Amino acid sequence: MLNAEIVNKDEEIIKLVNEILANAVKENVSDIHVEPKETYTQVRYRLNGVLHIPEGYDKIPKKLHSYIIDRIKVLTGTMKRDVNNRPQDGKLRMKIQGEEIDFRLLILPTIFGETVNLRILKTEELFTVEGIFNGDKELVKKFYDNITKPEGMILFTGLAGSGKTNTMATAINLISDVGKKIITIENPVEFGMETITQMQVRNQVGSTSANLLSATLRADADMICISEFKDYDTALLAFESSMQGHMIFSTMLTNNAVDALFRCTHMGIKEYLSGSVLQLILNSKLAKRVCKHCKEEKKYSKASLKAIGLTDDEIRNNKFYKGKGCKKCDNTGYKGRIAIMEMLEFTTDLREAFINGADKKQITKLAKKEGVYYTHKDDAIKKLKGGFIDLETARMFTL
Ligand SMILES: [Zn+2]
Repeated sequence: MLNAEIVNKDEEIIKLVNEILANAVKENVSDIHVEPKETYTQVRYRLNGVLHIPEGYDKIPKKLHSYIIDRIKVLTGTMKRDVNNRPQDGKLRMKIQGEEIDFRLLILPTIFGETVNLRILKTEELFTVEGIFNGDKELVKKFYDNITKPEGMILFTGLAGSGKTNTMATAINLISDVGKKIITIENPVEFGMETITQMQVRNQVGSTSANLLSATLRADADMICISEFKDYDTALLAFESSMQGHMIFSTMLTNNAVDALFRCTHMGIKEYLSGSVLQLILNSKLAKRVCKHCKEEKKYSKASLKAIGLTDDEIRNNKFYKGKGCKKCDNTGYKGRIAIMEMLEFTTDLREAFINGADKKQITKLAKKEGVYYTHKDDAIKKLKGGFIDLETARMFTL
């Protein structure tokens, strides 16, 4: 049994627990799990229904486990520290980034020690479909209609750390809810989800992405998700499989949606193949969100708003906002992040043009003309009008 004095003096444990809670709040997760395994302790965060291992907390030494649990119990002030063989409920409140955050706790005894689940009671839902598209019903419907198609391919693109994997996880989560069989091939497995079958690529034992994919094609899956096309063999197999009637999701590192289409060609995929099976390409970038605690109306000059593409009507009929700076945002006027999305859908004309050799510029122009290319600029203007971002941020996506 732990000695309370030792634990309280152990600054390392106090710091570790504080960090685990604070980082979870910063990342906007809904739950924190501290799970004892046989030889180590795992911390996992749940973001939009999906578990992942946060950076820096992979395999915490097992000898720290009971100290971590004890520290958490101390923070609640009510949980029994000398009880470790039966479930306990509790609550705790902590000041994180100037804000009082409430957690609800459940501790359960397991064969490897006590496991704790902390639910954060007030979180922003950045990566729900409504969150991604800020409740825009038309965009949410387009997204949903495309991801639930029986066959084809959806690409979730963006630069590193742009939220593309989260957007894909959101889509998977949405589909798994409607009872479809989903298999993922990942390297590494980033998200843990209970309702889907996940496989880890292990090149050294012959479980390459391509091998796993060809095996998966024989399984009765409604949807196959490949974490990223890193080689031609996997990409080709994925495109051929969607041609033969599978729905495939994958991610790609690109700056925008049209670039992703041409990246397929650069990888060696023939235009007739990618041009036939792609259903939707999404691209996400993250932007600084106006702090909701200190946001106030801002009168921008008409010229500066016109310069990024707003019409006279839009300027007249909308209010614009900016953060003044407060304690909660460290006087920056920004708090949290928001996804600025792109969505490219495929029409028959667009497919034909691409297969017949149209270049990036022509594809972009045609897609806009057909009304199937919702761009970063469109989304940034929408989010500026919604008061989620300020003009300075919107400019980064509109010029
Ligand atoms: Zn503020």
